Amino acid sequence: MQVDVAVLGGGPGGYTAAIRAAQLGASVACIEREPELGGTCLRVGCIPTKAWVQTAFALKEAEHTFDKLGVKLGGFQLEFGTANEWKAGVVKQMTSGVASLFKANGVEWVKGNGTFKDANTVAVDGGEDVSFKSAIIATGSFPLRPPIEGLDSERCVDSTGLLAQTEVPKRLVVLGGGIIGCEFASIFNRFGSEVTIIEMLPSLIPQEDADASKELAKQLGRRGITLHLEKQCTKVEDDGSELTVQFGDGETVQVDLMLVSVGRGPTVEGLGLEGIGVEFDKRKGIAADEHRRTTVAHIYAVGDCAGYWQLAHTAFREGEVAAENACGHDAVVDNRAVPRPIYTDPEIAGVGLTEAEAREQYGDDVATGMCRRAVCRGTRAAARRGDRPRRRRAVRPGGWRSRGRTRRADRLGRRRGNAR
Ligand SMILES: Cc1cc2nc3c(=O)[nH]c(=O)nc-3n(C[C@H](O)[C@H](O)[C@H](O)COP(=O)(O)OP(=O)(O)OC[C@H]3O[C@@H](n4cnc5c(N)ncnc54)[C@H](O)[C@@H]3O)c2cc1C
Repeated sequence: MQVDVAVLGGGPGGYTAAIRAAQLGASVACIEREPELGGTCLRVGCIPTKAWVQTAFALKEAEHTFDKLGVKLGGFQLEFGTANEWKAGVVKQMTSGVASLFKANGVEWVKGNGTFKDANTVAVDGGEDVSFKSAIIATGSFPLRPPIEGLDSERCVDSTGLLAQTEVPKRLVVLGGGIIGCEFASIFNRFGSEVTIIEMLPSLIPQEDADASKELAKQLGRRGITLHLEKQCTKVEDDGSELTVQFGDGETVQVDLMLVSVGRGPTVEGLGLEGIGVEFDKRKGIAADEHRRTTVAHIYAVGDCAGYWQLAHTAFREGEVAAENACGHDAVVDNRAVPRPIYTDPEIAGVGLTEAEAREQYGDDVATGMCRRAVCRGTRAAARRGDRPRRRRAVRPGGWRSRGRTRRADRLGRRRGNAR
């Protein structure tokens, strides 16, 4: 098969790139090895997690809000099987939506695992080679597993394994207090699990503003989630019915399931990149400039395999930019104001620089502010407001234009209209 643009990977970066290139008149093939399009985000990431977030939010409303608003329920409980059916339905709708968009835009979906045979050909397992004028690599990322004794137990699962559970674990330990770990901790706390988080750094979601992560730790603690910060997990023992997790200075916790969420690494190995001169680093991913061009001019890289962000919406934008450049346009990615919604409860959202990043870049020429008021004014918003005041922080280096802010509120991600 001969095409103008070959896209390796059908996740947010890849499918957006493929559709955009086709819209610009290119013949396009997208090589995807999973049985569905949509990548991590649609199949085993953002979308199924947010479907559970919705279930968790409904439980919260039933427990805390309905009564106050005069809605009497005859008791309520989680039916996990139904929640999973709802989750699967949302995923199916989204992944088949991408397949329909491919058809509508004339993108050829080549099913199979792809590797670069040379700088103008992708070999596809069990299929014919795809020859291209330009290629866009969008192979995504995979969950990292630290070298801890006992972590190979079946009861130690990654986010994909947790999303596949058919029963709510009575006791769940989350290894890693980053975004994914905290989102699942929030969800399973609402689902009724006893949740413990073990994090080796001094704070949760350490990449966000310190006050946002402190507030999150406080709120999760109030809801009964046990936090062990600055503690390293040293060993896990599975006796066949439960796990004993050793951490810190000789501490232990007994649980039924462990979520290992210590970060994701770029999928860059086994793609044949060495043979065609595309530079990459196993930890940082594929080197690409603001045009998303790699060290080989007609090959581009987007999304988690080549990025710092590991967000679906940055992958979308990078995919668009790479496709436009592959089709002869001149587009660049501007990352100065990337929104970062976090679907914990409470939700947190940041955009632009954090205070620490602003100080690192601008030194003392930074002003910050904090206000305690409702994000949305008006009586309806006031009536719907949660029990804590919303906060906003603005970082203003050298002038009035805000370069960053972080907010905390109920259902904030939705208000920001973001992909997360
Ligand atoms: C639990 C979880 C929750 C998340 N929640 C959010 C969220 O709320 N908001 C947000 O913005 N981001 C979220 N993310 C991150 C988001 O999923 C990723 O940033 C996004 O999917 C990256 O898109 P991508 O196209 O770069 O890679 P991916 O989505 O990983 O897609 C890569 C695709 O390439 C395919 N592939 C790889 N190698 C080959 C090959 N050799 N041949 C053929 N196909 C190949 C893979 O099968 C995969 O389908 C979440 C991630 C996880 C794990």
